[in-house]
Amino acid sequence: MHHVTLASRPDGAPSLDDFSYQPAPIPTPGEGEVLVRVHYMSLDPYMRGRMDDAKSYAAPVPIGGTMEAGAVGEVIASQSPHFKPGDFAFGMFGWATHGCLPANQLRKLDPKQGPITAALGVLGMPGFTGWHGLTEYGKPKAGETLVVAAATGPVGSMVGQVARLAGLRTVGVAGGAEKCKLATEKFGFDACLDHRAYDNARDLRAALKQECPDGIDIYFENVGGKVLEAVLPLMNPFGRIPICGMIAWYNAGGLGAGAKDQGLTGPGLWRNILVKFLSVNGFIISNHFDRFPQFLKEIGPKVASGEIAYLEDIAEGLENAPATFIAMLGGGNMGKQIVKLI
Ligand code: NDP
Repeated sequence: MHHVTLASRPDGAPSLDDFSYQPAPIPTPGEGEVLVRVHYMSLDPYMRGRMDDAKSYAAPVPIGGTMEAGAVGEVIASQSPHFKPGDFAFGMFGWATHGCLPANQLRKLDPKQGPITAALGVLGMPGFTGWHGLTEYGKPKAGETLVVAAATGPVGSMVGQVARLAGLRTVGVAGGAEKCKLATEKFGFDACLDHRAYDNARDLRAALKQECPDGIDIYFENVGGKVLEAVLPLMNPFGRIPICGMIAWYNAGGLGAGAKDQGLTGPGLWRNILVKFLSVNGFIISNHFDRFPQFLKEIGPKVASGEIAYLEDIAEGLENAPATFIAMLGGGNMGKQIVKLI
């Protein structure tokens, strides 16, 4: 088998040298464990945080340790009565061709119910994140206006579609004309703005104001940076901001603490929260998996019927995962980024 380990901690944006692609012995499952040959692996923005040695909700990957990842694959050996060879499962197998985990840490998948890759995106952690963050903290009401950036990614596209189905006006922000077209045509956003087309937050704000004539009731925060600065003054009183991520600052180091204060992100941020009576809720999805069955029950049939669309960007080969990951952080992905291993 092969795996990708963390060779060094990045200073700023990660480089290929921060990763090492290495052979390793295939583990033998012990009592209660299951060995899986990975078919598809997920690449997610949170992995950038695991590369920093900063105190967080999750431990960093140690130098020399296997990079963390959710993945799906086929059981090839099992010491558990709950799995047999030929079964398919999701687990946190890491950036690796094989993974061995206790059966109770795996989720069995039925390939007859749809592509197993869905368990990494639309019907997995990212889709669940969008649904949970919006329904729990966004509290969407018909007729309101929602803005979300990274609008064509697995989180943003779920947020936009669930909000649209709830009767909201949905305005996406995405990088580039092609992604904006995707946001409106495939994911049903009422409008989408290309953040790269605006040099500064003020110009982006002016464009957003045109697309949000009644102001913004929900800003689903995926990115921070220029988009946050553009959105804040447009928030309506009693608006809600679920804080899901801040990818614009991930490469600043120290889990974003290294980012320079920008305009409205200092005292101006607090003032906007104060005078607009905003509700701001941070959340980490791993604390909320008690709602996962409800998510699957509600959203699974909508995905099967096509009412909720999704898009996957599938790269080939574990050895290409570092380059694909670095590109994704900068917006190189069109849809949920996945790596196909076999
Ligand atoms: P995506 O697949 O959407 O990939 C990340 C996207 O972020 C890029 O494609 C790019 O899209 C956008 N981006 C990168 N840099 C910037 C920037 N400076 N300004 C604006 N946009 C930028 O990711 P996900 O859907 O998987 O995740 C979205 C967010 O949700 C991330 O912040 C992630 O960390 C967070 N998250 C949080 C969770 C939680 O538990 N709180 C769980 C899962 C995800 P574009 O080209 O359109 O700009």
